[in-house]
Amino acid sequence: MNLSYWETKTWFSNIDFCIIGSGITGLNCALNLKTRFPKSKILVLERGTLPNGASTKNAGFACFGSVSEILDDLNYHSEEEVLQLIQKRLKGLNLLRKNLGDKNIGYKEYGGYELFTKEDRPLFEECKAKLPELNKMLEPLFGEAVFSIQKDNFGFKNIQKKLIFNQFEGQLNTGKMMETLLQKVQKAGIKILNNVNVEEFTEAKNSVKIKTDKLEFLARKLLIATNGFSEKLGIAQVKPARAQVLITKPIKNLEIKGTFHLDKGYYYFRNIDDCILFGGGRNLDFKTEGTTEMAQTKLIQQKLEELLKNTILPETSFEIEHRWSGIMGVGKQKKPIVKQISENVYCGVRLGGMGVAIGSLVGKELSELII
Ligand SMILES: Cc1cc2nc3c(=O)[nH]c(=O)nc-3n(C[C@H](O)[C@H](O)[C@H](O)COP(=O)(O)OP(=O)(O)OC[C@H]3O[C@@H](n4cnc5c(N)ncnc54)[C@H](O)[C@@H]3O)c2cc1C
Repeated sequence: MNLSYWETKTWFSNIDFCIIGSGITGLNCALNLKTRFPKSKILVLERGTLPNGASTKNAGFACFGSVSEILDDLNYHSEEEVLQLIQKRLKGLNLLRKNLGDKNIGYKEYGGYELFTKEDRPLFEECKAKLPELNKMLEPLFGEAVFSIQKDNFGFKNIQKKLIFNQFEGQLNTGKMMETLLQKVQKAGIKILNNVNVEEFTEAKNSVKIKTDKLEFLARKLLIATNGFSEKLGIAQVKPARAQVLITKPIKNLEIKGTFHLDKGYYYFRNIDDCILFGGGRNLDFKTEGTTEMAQTKLIQQKLEELLKNTILPETSFEIEHRWSGIMGVGKQKKPIVKQISENVYCGVRLGGMGVAIGSLVGKELSELII
């Protein structure tokens, strides 16, 4: 890039904070830094024309864990750790709603349901038996029972007749959420540059040298919010995990309303605009799905269609309108990594499948590493 004096001075000089990634984490980090340091010059770099990771691709579940997931977590973590995890998701969701406003993000609290496959009778029985205990454990956070057993009123097939209902689970419009967040960032005077891919960075004297596919420049501090793509920037504890999704064409008199978790959370679906958005199936081929390449595979898309036809919409004819995928950042632990990497470099990554819930909080915590 052959930059003019003006371009260099206005965009690439005296940068206090450079953030890589304009997803929910990076944008929240930028906003919090601007609030704390109103005079600072902040530049967000994004490789995509739009944010191109998970924040504009996700299913928009405002959730904090299904019963089988929480019970599974209790096998590997203490009760206190699990409570902290759930509290964090709750805190993050409240922050998101407070920052952007329910109307602006299309937030609806229709509740969430966990469905169990025909083969999963023992798991259903275990979850059912542990429900009172779990509700008691969560009472300090919610003030009342979160989970209850309900009859399937949706006409699903090939699943257990009873579902577990979570009265506090919500859903939102992912597009609206990110549009509102981007508008807020731009209004705060934060610069975002799209189609700029950061290739590497090195510590320099009291600053960081940032090399992109277009140009090189210095910033006082660098904050990495690249989640599933962090391995390429040297953060080895985060692995990419692709998630594939499809959406149906509008369905007349669609009665399915809410967010639904199926087969231990490996599949998830919800209503939106009279359509069903349906995703999951990474467990069919973890190896192939451990990629940053945004694509769909026949194996997973066929399984999604099969489940739609035989389980979710067995009596309703439907057509698929569109398919896509996004990239999550996962690792051995569920806890996000929010830490200083070197003298002037920090990261907030590994948000797993819960970034809608925790992204605002992780972004805030990342910004708070700067003292
Ligand atoms: C299909 C799908 C469904 C999901 N459903 C839900 C859900 O219902 N509820 C929920 O809570 N969570 C869900 N998630 C997870 C959630 O979307 C993520 O955890 C969250 O969006 C992560 O936000 P982030 O900002 O940390 O990362 P991202 O949104 O991935 O942002 C990282 C950004 O960094 C950019 N970037 C990466 N490398 C570079 C580089 N070198 N230079 C410049 N830019 C770079 C990327 O283009 C990207 O825009 C889902 C994810 C997917 C993929």
